[in-house]
Amino acid sequence: MKRIEAIRCVVEELSDELVVCNIGYPSRELYSVGDRDENFYMLGSMGLASSIGLGLALSTRKRVVVFDGDGSLLMNLGSLVTIANRSPSNLTLIVLDNESYSTTGGQPSYTAGKTSLARIAKAAGIDNVLEARSPGELKRAFNESKGKTSVIIAKVEKGNADVPIIPLSPYKIKKRFMEAVKSGHAASTSN
Ligand SMILES: [Mg+2]
Repeated sequence: MKRIEAIRCVVEELSDELVVCNIGYPSRELYSVGDRDENFYMLGSMGLASSIGLGLALSTRKRVVVFDGDGSLLMNLGSLVTIANRSPSNLTLIVLDNESYSTTGGQPSYTAGKTSLARIAKAAGIDNVLEARSPGELKRAFNESKGKTSVIIAKVEKGNADVPIIPLSPYKIKKRFMEAVKSGHAASTSN
């Protein structure tokens, strides 16, 4: 499956989830597939999508979905340990694993070699680790992961979709996302 297909099949299942997306083409693909106020497109800080998602999940009752990349997660493996031990049940980390650094030219990452992010996530202590190789498997994994701290390794093809850059300013992305988080928070605390 292509990465944009993987993103699309998750987006089709979304309602009010907060979504944090890794920098580069994944964010551009998410924007083109389904822009929404609840999407936070990272424009810097490579490697920190999982950490930002963890912080968010610990501070809201809404489900938080993170689209990370293999290269990005490999540079912040400690995040998996913290996720395992804090284990917010509303966090789903989806790793779009194309075994390469696609945004910078397709150099192979170590998941193309000996390293399995699924095994690392399990060894870190995350109980719900799923792997998906097709849109159907990914949808099923995504829906099964609701209510459990989860990592889904979605194996995707190398390469990027031909999609334009995101025309929103960083300020706009942050501001509307903060408002979306806040409105969710008000709703959840009124119960
Ligand atoms: Mg990659």
